[in-house]
Amino acid sequence: METSHISPDVAGSEPIDDREPWYAEIAVPRPLPQTFTYVVPDELRDRIAVGSQVEVPFGRSRSPGFVVSLVRGGAAPREGLKPIGTLTYPDPVFDGAILELAKWVSEYYVASLGEVLMTALPGGLRKEARRASPPPEARGLGLAQIPRSLSAAQRKALAVVDDAITAQVFRSFLLYGVTGSGKTEVYVRAAETAVAAGGQVLMLVPEIALSFQVVERFRLAFGDRVGVFHSGLTARRRQDVWRRARSGELAIVVGARSAVFTPLPSLRLLVVDEEHEGAYKQAETPRYHAREVAIVRAHRAGATVVLGSATPALESYANVQRGKLGLLALPERIDARPRASVVVHDLRPREGAPKERTPILSRELTRKISERLSKKEQVILFLNRRGYAPFVQCRHCGLVARCHQCDVSLTFHRTSDSLVCHYCGDRKTHFGTCENCGSLRILFAGIGTQRVEEELQALFPRVQALRLDFDSTRRVGSYEHILRAFGAGEAEILLGTQMVARGLDFPNVTLVGVINADAGLNLPDFRSAERTFQLLTQVAGRAGRGERPGEVVLQTHYPEHYALTAAVVQDYEAFFLKEIALRREREYPPFTRMANLLFDGEEEARVIRAAEWLGTIIGRDARKGLTLLGPAPQPLSRLKGKHRWHLAIRAPHHATLRQACVVALEEWERTKREHAGVRMTIDMDPIDLL
Ligand code: ADP
Ligand code: ZN
Ligand code: ZN
Repeated sequence: METSHISPDVAGSEPIDDREPWYAEIAVPRPLPQTFTYVVPDELRDRIAVGSQVEVPFGRSRSPGFVVSLVRGGAAPREGLKPIGTLTYPDPVFDGAILELAKWVSEYYVASLGEVLMTALPGGLRKEARRASPPPEARGLGLAQIPRSLSAAQRKALAVVDDAITAQVFRSFLLYGVTGSGKTEVYVRAAETAVAAGGQVLMLVPEIALSFQVVERFRLAFGDRVGVFHSGLTARRRQDVWRRARSGELAIVVGARSAVFTPLPSLRLLVVDEEHEGAYKQAETPRYHAREVAIVRAHRAGATVVLGSATPALESYANVQRGKLGLLALPERIDARPRASVVVHDLRPREGAPKERTPILSRELTRKISERLSKKEQVILFLNRRGYAPFVQCRHCGLVARCHQCDVSLTFHRTSDSLVCHYCGDRKTHFGTCENCGSLRILFAGIGTQRVEEELQALFPRVQALRLDFDSTRRVGSYEHILRAFGAGEAEILLGTQMVARGLDFPNVTLVGVINADAGLNLPDFRSAERTFQLLTQVAGRAGRGERPGEVVLQTHYPEHYALTAAVVQDYEAFFLKEIALRREREYPPFTRMANLLFDGEEEARVIRAAEWLGTIIGRDARKGLTLLGPAPQPLSRLKGKHRWHLAIRAPHHATLRQACVVALEEWERTKREHAGVRMTIDMDPIDLL
């Protein structure tokens, strides 16, 4: 008889009868809590391994899946097991470390392991998207020359990180450095230390297209040993980066959220740049937070993790105070450049003043713009709303154009003469008349970026302005294109949504104008003040990064709000103290933990009933200090034709909360038939309740 296929991990134990079947536990990417057992066909025994990607019969169709464990021989765990269909890839796609990490994510976030693994796979089985070739390498984008020597603060921070890397034990730090303090340089030098010691580095950024200046800096230092997961890559090229990372050929991997799952066998350093960014939290299942996953991964790998920000997430700064993160501070800008000075323009009409329309750009801001332009300096304008007018109303009959699928008003887009739903993307042509009564008297209310663009053309007809928002960057590579043009001085003004607030480094920008600084403050969410403060401080940080000092103008109706007053003096600590006191008083994170159970369905009555029912189930377990908030309609109560309700749960500890979610999910699965047509998903540690 031929030798049997005993793999090394079972050799030496009981001899295995070759005729006994093998079984595999398969995780399938469906919203189901369990894995499924299949029989391994004889002809696959040689090649299948834990971490392999397979295709299995599932219900009446077939499903991709991942082998999470193998049982070689022994009694059948159940009758009537089906065999695995095909082995999609001969090599295991996941190594042990990633599989374990995925299991942690699946447990912590109460998410299906198959869905987590699917998310982890770059371009995985998703169909090859027909996209343009990857964008050209962005070069010469106003990136300053490589600094000859580090500042004292950079040196001090680096020394601590270097020690941690050399020690090869888990260490975690918050690199809290004001905008323009040179955080990127610290990342690059720390990466050099890790690579020199034979290690690999994982560099996470909120959005790769907006972080090309960071990518460029790494390329300068490490050349083609840098692998980048760019959104423009085809699935094949993503898998190529993944393979080269796994083989150790790449020293550095730069990528957004899901890059946290890249296999890196000699991982020594993880960096989470702009760690406060909401983009690190996935907005669909599995709703993991890449910063948290990075910390767990570093812990398991005995690696060092550095979280960097000028405006740390409240949780992160609180973790510094609790001793969970070491603090590395860069309190000054490079070369002791002054931070931009911030002034507030109160948009409220003065008492007794004649009633007039609030201008889009105040007279002072307009004057400051022309001043800068005459000095050949550049200006960034920020407005967190795209389109032309977010609200279109008939002056005759009062009808407001609304999306028929979502509970929101339609935004008028002048560039395409259409009414667009910013939630579901639905659009229709706007014919200039009211749909209801045919009147031509239409009111375009509110301000979007296209309207500011129009205003700029009217005020400064000979000035070139570039618009950077979702609409102008739909095509792959257009971010870089716009930013490169601005960096090269082809335009004087860059106007855009929060995309302009992210880490950009343009030394010739000396003025930043915020059109409506309090836009985000009134959102019904416990993080709205934090987000507003971060956004304003970040956007302010784009001014005065070169030799000339910068200035920031905040236009607002609410200058007294503490998020604004703290942003004006750019005092993170002051904001933190105020906000953390409010969180404590209101029992919000980080003093408690939250989970948000989301319900949606076409029939509202069924959605409500399901939410109320699950609320009762969880409520039975109230002795553990659980608090239920709701059920209540979600702030966006109808989306794409679905009614949306939610039930927030608060608990003193994660374990209690997770247990409640597990019970909820089990009960939900058990009684699935009773709430057909309603979907329930769990958002653990939600970053907003919107
Ligand atoms: P941050 O990410 O903290 O906002 P950056 O890393 O973008 O700051 O650095 C701000 C600017 O200072 C960049 O143009 C960078 O090239 C430059 N810089 C960083 N470190 C030094 C240094 N030690 N000497 C001179 N310039 C530096
Ligand atoms: Zn009308
Ligand atoms: Zn819609």
